Amino acid sequence: MSEFMSCKICSHPTEPFARALVLGRYQAEFYRCGSCGFICTEDPYWLDEAYSTVITGSDVGLVRRNSRLATIVHLLLAVFFGSSGRFLDFAGGYGLFVRMMRDRGFDFRWFDRYCTNLFAGGFAADMDDGGAYDLVTAFEVFEHLVDPLTGLDELMGLSGSILLTTDLLPEPAPNPHQWWYYGLEHGQHVSFYTRKSLEVLAEKKGLRFYSNGSTVHLFTERKLPASLFFLLARHRTASLIAPFLGNTSLLDDDFSALSGSKLS
Ligand SMILES: [Zn+2]
Repeated sequence: MSEFMSCKICSHPTEPFARALVLGRYQAEFYRCGSCGFICTEDPYWLDEAYSTVITGSDVGLVRRNSRLATIVHLLLAVFFGSSGRFLDFAGGYGLFVRMMRDRGFDFRWFDRYCTNLFAGGFAADMDDGGAYDLVTAFEVFEHLVDPLTGLDELMGLSGSILLTTDLLPEPAPNPHQWWYYGLEHGQHVSFYTRKSLEVLAEKKGLRFYSNGSTVHLFTERKLPASLFFLLARHRTASLIAPFLGNTSLLDDDFSALSGSKLS
């Protein structure tokens, strides 16, 4: 592995930042960009193993996380994007978020290369239909991307607006053992972003960037009031306002459609 590597976001030279044991047995080098602060691991040769390791029943936060995100996305869509569009949850996992958003009246579709759709059966996206979604959500995707620019390209092929979650690096950048988000035990997190690195990423793709300052971020072609996004993309705000947003659930329609398709 070369000691010199250019930043995957801004192309500046990076420097070795730290070494840490990934998956309990691979000594991995972490590189940090002196310009945008982006941190990545060396070429993650351990990924096959990282993804083949089954983590059973340990994700106790799954429901709460999806519930909080549904509240935030409900508000952001209602305020900035309208309720009647087509939406896609990219890397949608078990489909829980898609089901929650359809219950809230938003036409969300599911896509995930690696996970089984348990909750959003009948609403898998047709990825060959040319995309054109009003917004794509990509929760906990970007920290898995070995090549963030290519990953963003794929999402931009689906929509001009990408709402993502990834935890921003604290400042100063913590060492691998000082921040849980490095995920050394599972080895699946390989890219770690500062706010600046996400801004550069947006700029490179001709997109605007908005953030709640911690975990929820938006790449979009549209111009939005940054301070309003900052305020609304927080669970504390969203949980106060979302209950008052009227929207007709798709639950009954979905039930009829799925029952009909089973009979036919
Ligand atoms: Zn950089």
